[in-house]
Amino acid sequence: HKLFAPRNHTAGLDWSHDPDLRHFLELNDESRNHAFIAMPMIGHGLPELYEHRIALNPADSRLNIGLVNDAGLEDIEKALTCAAETSWDNCSTQARADLLEKTADIFSARRIELMSILISEAGKSLPNAQNEVLEAIDFCRYYAQEARLQWQDESPTPLGLVVTISPWNFPLAIFVGQIACALIGGNRVIAKPAPETPLVAALAIRCFYEAGISRQILQFIPGGAAAGAALVLDRRCNGVLFTGSHHSALRIATEINQSGQVKPLITETSSVNCMIADSTAHIDHVCKDVLTSAFDSAGQRCSALRVLFLQEEIASSTIERIKLAMAELNIGNPFLLASDIGPVINEPAQRKIIAAIQQYHHCPIYQTPLPHEIHHGSYIAPTLIELSDNDSLPEEIFGPVLFVKRFKIQHLKEVVHNINLQKSGLTLGIHSRLQSTRDYIIQNTKVGNYYINRSQIGAIVGCQPFGGTGKAGSGPKVGGPWSIWAACQNTDPCKAH
Ligand code: GLU
Repeated sequence: HKLFAPRNHTAGLDWSHDPDLRHFLELNDESRNHAFIAMPMIGHGLPELYEHRIALNPADSRLNIGLVNDAGLEDIEKALTCAAETSWDNCSTQARADLLEKTADIFSARRIELMSILISEAGKSLPNAQNEVLEAIDFCRYYAQEARLQWQDESPTPLGLVVTISPWNFPLAIFVGQIACALIGGNRVIAKPAPETPLVAALAIRCFYEAGISRQILQFIPGGAAAGAALVLDRRCNGVLFTGSHHSALRIATEINQSGQVKPLITETSSVNCMIADSTAHIDHVCKDVLTSAFDSAGQRCSALRVLFLQEEIASSTIERIKLAMAELNIGNPFLLASDIGPVINEPAQRKIIAAIQQYHHCPIYQTPLPHEIHHGSYIAPTLIELSDNDSLPEEIFGPVLFVKRFKIQHLKEVVHNINLQKSGLTLGIHSRLQSTRDYIIQNTKVGNYYINRSQIGAIVGCQPFGGTGKAGSGPKVGGPWSIWAACQNTDPCKAH
């Protein structure tokens, strides 16, 4: 199809022959945790550190990893004024695509630094950190390629000033993906990272500048919800790209409404994602895919599996195998290749997840044993909770917690009905070797991304556009051909062609 750019993905790093990576793996904790810095980067004037807080490593709260200067209201006003006075109307689609591709090259050249902060700041495992850098690169290259292809004759009209608000669970890939999407449409951007992960975001911004994107076109405002509200509610802001919790998305939508303004708000949020495995499923595959879907990234993905529905006939044996596999998971220092799962983002998140698990003390619970040496980090043992027929479906717990529920095949309709009742529509996994069962489930549910006989995380930019329906987001899906239209005025690509 003419509309789709070629799928050229970033090749993985070669772990055995990359001297920089080998050197990085040999460093000790102290040399890895050198001080990173994040502060407002506003068009005019040099960034200065005036009032900072200390960022700690979630894997070991004794390790200080850097300084963060959150933006004050004065910084926000300066950034808005600067954005309002700037335009890059004279920069063609081709030139913007060149700038994004150059940024991708710089991310690639600085991948070790980026990985290092992803691990120290967000507790990412080494493979997760590597994949995240590659995804950020893919977003830049893919949006550049799509724009060249789709907008060769005429670019759509940009929204103007776009505010991007990103989450801590993909503090580089989603942060960069939003910015790249807004920039390729010709917008000016003020980017606000999650307050938990401004350090890697700050380095990403420096890479955009190094590629030649001007400090007036792209500005950086580290801060929390108050900074986000000040940016979004300002009349000079013409549109918002938001990824984060459903609760925050609703709050932003309500605040914009109450302020009497109408402006595009593109949201992507998480949901209570399910997997259904029937008795024809290949049990070993189910176990492997369940472990990946529920526990990779310590369960801190919007796409992660939360509730596994197992057909009665295979339930006991599958649960036993999952528990055996869980016992083999290595929980520990994310800098070590031997660690499968690192910490959750911080201590408050750890406490919240523990409290949520305790609510289920009446159910059979299995947890992976935690090693002793990790008590300074915010680790959570991967947890499996068996729900009975009487238990209703849980609320989302954003961590490595998997609920399992048994079902009789004659009640499949009820399972599907329960999934629909939650109106959570991001991902759904199906493990079945029966075409009729898969078709029935797909035809009777409405979610953004279906995953058949495989894990349900890790969508690939350009191949698997990612995003939900209903409560899980507005679309367009990210990393797909329509995503470059998200921050444009004529957002109906079909009409535009
Ligand atoms: N794109 C990621 C995946 O497919 C999830 C992104 C998110 O957690 O927001 O697993």
